[in-house]
Amino acid sequence: MARVALVTGGTRGIGAAISKMLKDKGYTVAANYAGNEVAAKKFKEETGIAVYKFDVGDYAAVQTAVAQIEKDLGPIDVVVNNAGITRDGTMKRLSRDHWDAVIDTNLGSCFNVCKAVWDGMNGRAFGRIVNIGSINGQGGQYGQVNYAAAKSGIHGFTKALAQEGAAKGITVNAIAPGYTDTDMVSAVPAPVLEKIVAKIPVGRLGKADEIARGVVFLVADDAGFITGSTLSINGGQHMY
Ligand code: NDP
Repeated sequence: MARVALVTGGTRGIGAAISKMLKDKGYTVAANYAGNEVAAKKFKEETGIAVYKFDVGDYAAVQTAVAQIEKDLGPIDVVVNNAGITRDGTMKRLSRDHWDAVIDTNLGSCFNVCKAVWDGMNGRAFGRIVNIGSINGQGGQYGQVNYAAAKSGIHGFTKALAQEGAAKGITVNAIAPGYTDTDMVSAVPAPVLEKIVAKIPVGRLGKADEIARGVVFLVADDAGFITGSTLSINGGQHMY
């Protein structure tokens, strides 16, 4: 039986690349999205991957959706917590709403989804969880206290949960992508982006597929000794 993988934010950008690569590797994939129906429809038509709309920041909605996915596709053995948003602003301008939205969507989602699959993974003594952090959770970024806090939180969440899952065959790892060519990055003003690219040793943005490769590696059945780690995929921009 093919293993079932849930990819949050799996219909666009990095998540879409992850969903497709997992499908190509033989996984049965459920791709979640928030509300961009046009992108989700196009993704579903092109890939044949099942799509599920729910807000990963909403605890109750996640529990209901995960139960539905497991009913439709079978027990979820692989989770990729990828959904994320930015609501940038310096401390002077950052609103409480933008703080909450970023923390709930990027970090609260990891709790919400892991909680929904945890008992099942423990019962089957197998699980692979990959949380998508960020280079900006490792090093911080001007104008992103909310995003950097959420992503840094993901890295701590990963190490703590890895300790809980280790004896039960559940690995929990993080990937910290550097700047990757997706809609999220195209929202960055061109002059700012130019300065960012100038700081990337390989001299370009990452490609979504280059992040997906890391996910496929970490979720493999024979990757059971890799847990609690953070894989940086960033073109050499951050090395500590
Ligand atoms: P995109 O903005 O291109 O895609 C985001 C995806 O997440 C979409 O599928 C979107 O759904 C979904 N999503 C957003 N909010 C929610 C929500 N509340 N509930 C469910 N789904 C949601 O992002 P990227 O592909 O660029 O980023 C993917 C991940 O990688 C994020 O966690 C991001 O922080 C991280 N990252 C990205 C980097 C980059 O340079 N791009 C660098 C470092 C980390 P919909 O289509 O419906 O809006």
